[in-house]
Amino acid sequence: MNAMPRVSAGLFAVALLTACVTREAAPAPPAVDAARPVVVQGAMDLEIRKLAGTLEHVTEEKVHGWTFWRGTIDGYPVVISKTLKGMSNAAAATALAAERYHPVAIINQGTAGGHEPDLHVYDIVLGIQAVNLGSFKTGYRARGRGSSFAEWTPLDLMRSEGSAGEDPNARSMRRFGGDEGLLTAARRVRGTYRKGRVVEGVIGSSEIWNSEIDRIQRFHDQFGTMAEEMETASAAQIAGLFDIPLLGIRVVSNNITNGGTYDALTGEACQEYVYDVVKAYIGETLKR
Ligand code: SAH
Repeated sequence: MNAMPRVSAGLFAVALLTACVTREAAPAPPAVDAARPVVVQGAMDLEIRKLAGTLEHVTEEKVHGWTFWRGTIDGYPVVISKTLKGMSNAAAATALAAERYHPVAIINQGTAGGHEPDLHVYDIVLGIQAVNLGSFKTGYRARGRGSSFAEWTPLDLMRSEGSAGEDPNARSMRRFGGDEGLLTAARRVRGTYRKGRVVEGVIGSSEIWNSEIDRIQRFHDQFGTMAEEMETASAAQIAGLFDIPLLGIRVVSNNITNGGTYDALTGEACQEYVYDVVKAYIGETLKR
């Protein structure tokens, strides 16, 4: 009868000792551990691995299909997130990051296709706005009359409680504004980027790789898009619902409007610039 409590007390003492030893062996946590991290997102390895490699005190966390690397830059907590490609994957990765890490800000960065001829491969676009280029209502066309993109009107799925397709108030393009604090940091380090220009403009996102020049031209004329990719507007929409500031930063990896062929190494160049942006944001905005 008396043996059980004694055994439990013994086990408890051993457990306590182990806990103490483990705690002592672990590296000292960074002083700003309690601060909310900056999250930097990228869809593919070639867009994210280099940044993950810059983290100090790094640990890798897998959440089903998504990977997060937690660590610090200049002693401040930063989480690098591999979102996977496309709007749905990016939305889910953003919600996971929001719930798990409570970020102070998010940068969504990576490669994109250029929408205007004077934008060259390796130029970088700071997303003063992001728009969803996959959200439209088509015009009516009878059987056998095919499809005409010219008749499509934008659809703001965040706008209407009723049927978005029937509500005239929902027929506008929602614009997700890039965060001013992150933009300020990005502008400040603009001069460090030597591989191309750093310009400001609208980033368009959808799950369509668009190779129709007329469609690109229409997006450019109607919505002011400078570059097109598959994640920023989605991450921005979700970050907005969580009240987390976000900025899209996209390097032109290809540009069908001027014959700029795809260059995967642009993904590395973008990460080098984004690293400088994160350091500037941490140093001059968060640690102040
Ligand atoms: N060419 C790449 C595949 C990129 S797939 C390869 O062979 O591995 C699409 C990814 O690249 C998306 O994450 C998207 O954000 C980005 N992207 C780059 N240029 C794009 C373009 N012109 N249109 C759409 N997405 C583009």
